[in-house]
Amino acid sequence: MVDVGTLSLVATGALLLFALAVGIRVLAGIFRDGRERSRKRREGEIDRYTEDPVYDRDPPDPDADGAAPATCPQCGAENASEFAYCRECAAPLGPNP
Ligand SMILES: [Zn+2]
Repeated sequence: MVDVGTLSLVATGALLLFALAVGIRVLAGIFRDGRERSRKRREGEIDRYTEDPVYDRDPPDPDADGAAPATCPQCGAENASEFAYCRECAAPLGPNP
């Protein structure tokens, strides 16, 4: 006669095996999908996102406008061109607001 404890143990074991089988199947599917994707990418069937023109643009260059470092008329300290006030004496640096 099989007692209840053994029965529940067997049921739990069966459930665990079932869950393991399902999990392995899902993992295998993910793995297969990834390999398929990388194979297609190698063969050029899928464009890499880095080849997207949106990602191909150069980042904006802060020095592109050619502005030279501003020299303070008050104390002569050199300040970055985007500064409106001198970092040394806080004097206004020019036409920039
Ligand atoms: Zn200054």
